[in-house]
Amino acid sequence: MKERLDKLNTLLKVEALDVAFITSPKLVYYFTGFYSDPHERFMALVCPRGEEPFLLVPVLDYEKAVRVSGVSRIYSHEDTDNPYEVLRGLLKGTYVRAGIQAEHLNVNRYHGLMEATGAKDFVGMDGKLADIRVIKSEDEVVAIKKAIVCIEDALRSTLSIVKPGITELDIVAELEYRMKKLGAEGPSFDTMVLAGEKTGLPHGIPGYELVREGELLLFDCGVFVDGYASDITRTFAVGEVNDKTKEIYNIVLQANEAMIQAVRPGVTLGSLDLAARQVIIDHGYGEYFNHRAGHGFGMEIHEYPSIHGKNQDLVREGMVFTAEPGIYISGLGGVRIEDNVRVTANGVEVLTTFSKELTVIGV
Ligand code: MN
Ligand code: MN
Repeated sequence: MKERLDKLNTLLKVEALDVAFITSPKLVYYFTGFYSDPHERFMALVCPRGEEPFLLVPVLDYEKAVRVSGVSRIYSHEDTDNPYEVLRGLLKGTYVRAGIQAEHLNVNRYHGLMEATGAKDFVGMDGKLADIRVIKSEDEVVAIKKAIVCIEDALRSTLSIVKPGITELDIVAELEYRMKKLGAEGPSFDTMVLAGEKTGLPHGIPGYELVREGELLLFDCGVFVDGYASDITRTFAVGEVNDKTKEIYNIVLQANEAMIQAVRPGVTLGSLDLAARQVIIDHGYGEYFNHRAGHGFGMEIHEYPSIHGKNQDLVREGMVFTAEPGIYISGLGGVRIEDNVRVTANGVEVLTTFSKELTVIGV
């Protein structure tokens, strides 16, 4: 925690900031060890340059913050207070340049911080903060691995109840029950279970569609364990599927493996997307792979880096991201296979272990 706060202090110096505000609950947790979602109430880790950072939290979170955070200065505001007036009372210096999480802060809070600080110049720190978090420590990888074991066990257990006639939402309920019984804090994003034709939607929403024999069933799911996420997709055959479906499945599998084999420090992130994409293009399905090949994750389900074909940033040891090519044919169906990987000194460690062979279930 001390090391992380030191990095934040360095950021203040490098960016010549007079004060910085960490306002997203996940980042407050990252820097302090204290997690709370305050909803519309104001919460921030406040870092005035040259001073010890402090937490300003809603009063109902005060006790928890005192107990668990690594920060010694903690203040609170009540529901009857204007939190920005409380903040103004706590800030002693003169502030011109303030660092904020521009992608997180809403306009009301931005105006509140303007009033509280008198600062004129607000600087988004989002990119720099992403950079601090992109290399995962051993402790973070341990938590990510736990989240992967949990979702893989939950998925395996859920497959036993899948049969023709059950709805997508029934399966979601079974999977989310099992993940929590297995120790998850909760799903790391809205659990996706798509049947038949709906597998052709990369971002479909589960509903009352029925699982049918001879069709595909796609699970895209993950959990939080110890504050860290997993994110896995597997596509199954409910009974026997036709040859064209099997062909598409095997192309996506080859694309997934080609991407993973391309991972090593020093290559561009874009080259990983292209490694997967080339396989799909070569088989004539290029137009049916319409999203990036992967994304970083950790405390949040989507973090830097974005693995798209034009990203010229380099792969670095310690990055953790997904490899998730897919083919989606509207009106027919689709396949996605998503693994979680970590970049090692010489290559890659595949963290997900669930079988990727086309598996027949439900009969
Ligand atoms: Mn996913
Ligand atoms: Mn993903």
